[in-house]
Amino acid sequence: MLKVGITGGIGSGKTTVARIFELLGVPVYYADEAARRLMHSDPEIIRQIKALLGDDAYLPNGTLNRKFIASRVFQDKQLLEQLNAIIHPATIRDAEQWMERQHAPYAMKEAALLFETHAFHYLDRIIVVYAPAALRIHRVMQRDHVPVDEVKRRMQQQISPEIAVRLADDVIYNDEQNAVIPQVLQLHEQLLAAARLRPS
Ligand code: ATP
Repeated sequence: MLKVGITGGIGSGKTTVARIFELLGVPVYYADEAARRLMHSDPEIIRQIKALLGDDAYLPNGTLNRKFIASRVFQDKQLLEQLNAIIHPATIRDAEQWMERQHAPYAMKEAALLFETHAFHYLDRIIVVYAPAALRIHRVMQRDHVPVDEVKRRMQQQISPEIAVRLADDVIYNDEQNAVIPQVLQLHEQLLAAARLRPS
């Protein structure tokens, strides 16, 4: 089975595009959602997060204390890196195990930080969803009701879209000049063909 990654800058539309692939029958692993699930349910990750940030990282009902965690890591880059060092490798392992359970010509992992976390190493092919920065900022401000500075801060955590496009095997342009669905349909056919050619 072909293992495909899909990534792109914040607000590029990678989740929206991944959902279209899912509608075509492609199994999709959503890394952000999975990371949240692991932080809530994986006893080893919960133990490590509590060891790093204290028991207050979880509320008495066992859910993640997002406010507390955000306040701790907001000004402390090193602490954020330590938290990421717990979550990212665990999510990568979880995605790899998930991939092994899929029965399809190809399966897809959607992640905002596919290059930055080195998660792309175990993937066969990477799709980057591209949209210009101004459009991405507009979309995220509308979607999350956050100010422009917050969007820009999140954008700085990612590699530049220009570098991402150069590292990509395929690019989907999700801007106002290009229709997304025809690009997805064409790429789906190419990925099915590539999967057929692969020795199983
Ligand atoms: P993040 O990294 O923040 O998770 P993302 O890359 O997954 O972002 P989406 O959530 O898919 O981006 O899209 C951002 C917003 O833009 C959403 O509200 C989505 O509905 C909207 N959007 C995405 N693509 C289009 C499009 N082609 N036309 C109109 N709206 C779009």
